[in-house]
Amino acid sequence: MIPTAARGWVLGTTNYAEADKIAQLYTLQLGRVKAMVKGIRKPKSKLASSIDLFTESSFSLFKKSTASLYVLGQAKVLNDNSALKNDFQVITCLQVLSETVTQATPEGEPHPEIYELLKETLVALEKEPRSSELLLTAFVLKLMEDLGYPLELENCAECGETIVAQRVYLIPHRGGALCESCHGSTAAKFQVNKMALEILKKLRRTPAERVHVLKLQPVLSRQIFMTVMGYLERTLEKPFRSLEYYAKVLPLETR
Ligand SMILES: [Zn+2]
Repeated sequence: MIPTAARGWVLGTTNYAEADKIAQLYTLQLGRVKAMVKGIRKPKSKLASSIDLFTESSFSLFKKSTASLYVLGQAKVLNDNSALKNDFQVITCLQVLSETVTQATPEGEPHPEIYELLKETLVALEKEPRSSELLLTAFVLKLMEDLGYPLELENCAECGETIVAQRVYLIPHRGGALCESCHGSTAAKFQVNKMALEILKKLRRTPAERVHVLKLQPVLSRQIFMTVMGYLERTLEKPFRSLEYYAKVLPLETR
């Protein structure tokens, strides 16, 4: 069997059988795929360091045409992103990031632009850990665009009118921001004020390396982060477990 070479990150693992794990990978060449990592839970496994969360490695993957899983043959660490793993807030953000990519990206579909976006986001997280919440918010806004369901923020997603009201409703499954007359009585909506809307627009067009220039009050940063994450959750109809954990371990008043 000829292996497929792919570079990428491990997004998470689950234990399998006695000594194995199934790893969720995000790769440049194959997109998101699952791979069996045999013997990884044995003390001297050579693959251990390469299956750390968000360690970038080059993987050698095998798959029989009938199998649904790849098997990880070899892995070589390219960048362990160790600086990312020293900061508790960043580590918690990485968990949200890994769940976001796992839930939002289709399996087995390469998206080089998403790979690049992830890479830029990880580099920026390493340099500017204090901006992690905004970096993640910007990542999700750009990810939705790359996946083909951008969040409409400029004009009303239904009637196309410019949004002038002080309050704007972001409504999942209806394209994003809706004006006062279109939003109706939908229960599933996220309200943002004009200022938050402007910040979201700005975040989407700011490259990850420049996001830290934007300085926001923690309360506002948290609000827009939770709004965008909530919008994505509703769009995908999949609850994110990491968000509840995030809010619990990083309460606003102690930051
Ligand atoms: Zn409208």
